[in-house]
Amino acid sequence: MANPLLQFNDKGIYCAAGDFYIDPWKPVDFAVITHAHSDHARGGHKHYLSHHLSRGVLKYRLGEIQLETAGYDEAIYRNGVRISFHPAGHIIGSAQVRVEHKGAVWVVSGDYKTEDDGISVPFEPVKCHTFISECTFGMPVYKWKPPQEVHDDINIWWKRNSEEGRATFIAGYSLGKAQRILQHLDQSIGKVFLHGVIANTHEALESDGIRLPPASRLTPDTNREEVRKGIIICPPSAIGSPWMRKVQPFSFGYCSGWMTLRGARRRMAADRGFVLSDHADWSGLIKAIDATQCECVCLTHGYTASFVRYLRERGYNAHEAHTYYGEEDEPAELVHETGQPADIFLTAESGGNNPDRVLKGEDIQAGDQTGRPAL
Ligand SMILES: [Zn+2]
Ligand SMILES: [Zn+2]
Repeated sequence: MANPLLQFNDKGIYCAAGDFYIDPWKPVDFAVITHAHSDHARGGHKHYLSHHLSRGVLKYRLGEIQLETAGYDEAIYRNGVRISFHPAGHIIGSAQVRVEHKGAVWVVSGDYKTEDDGISVPFEPVKCHTFISECTFGMPVYKWKPPQEVHDDINIWWKRNSEEGRATFIAGYSLGKAQRILQHLDQSIGKVFLHGVIANTHEALESDGIRLPPASRLTPDTNREEVRKGIIICPPSAIGSPWMRKVQPFSFGYCSGWMTLRGARRRMAADRGFVLSDHADWSGLIKAIDATQCECVCLTHGYTASFVRYLRERGYNAHEAHTYYGEEDEPAELVHETGQPADIFLTAESGGNNPDRVLKGEDIQAGDQTGRPAL
């Protein structure tokens, strides 16, 4: 294709006409960010452009960055190239990026899901010529149940634990999954406690005007009896922390699309696996791609090879792209270099950009049969 509007280079998805990148993985001058997960929003760029609702979390995760924000459907121009954000339904503040120049329209999906999670603005298909899509769960085996059924299962499990004197730990990513879990908990069962990093993330979201249901930050002084009747939302990396053993007995549930696979639940040593994902399932991906009415599809992460074959059979001009997306989500402060569980009482002060902690996806995440890290 002559002069494609967007192209993949060694730094990210580049728009030469507008001289900007979308979700770059190496430092650049101007980065348009689809959402604040760590594989899409990295540090070190000179200037950032994101949706308004990513502001607080980006600043919490990346420190003082030079950030400009925009709302959905609002046009921003760079060298005559029109850029706009559109709801991706993935997490609060997540956006697809539409880029238009000289009659050509390209859309970069970032991560997305097609079902309404009750906390983020639902996904809206955007018509385009070329759609650059994720395909994390692009295999027919991934078929999500209606989310309300999963939330009901979580509440039933929590209620039984509480009645039988077991504490309930539920793990999910601190940005996205944690808010979604909280939003749908039946608070008549007991109190909700948050791991420090999730409490910090909620404060960051609330600084952007988001309102979340009540929940208390877990501290060393938290009443242990209340904890035993309550539920503790924690990131996957906190599982197995020494403090957890002190509130024995407990039951531990894990929320992820990868819980579809039996091996993933076993590797996470979870008592319960809840199939709850912030990504589109197989049919969600197909519906989303069809709705763009695009001619050309480029797949960035997930089961790209088999999905490309499938799309070609259906008449699309489809390609795979090599990117560094897919190892979301936790900020580096959550994972010790040793792979040991993070301190469950991590506070804003004790976290931060501690250099002896690095993100080691394979230590905290289960995997599928391809060895791809779980989300
Ligand atoms: Zn994401
Ligand atoms: Zn991603």
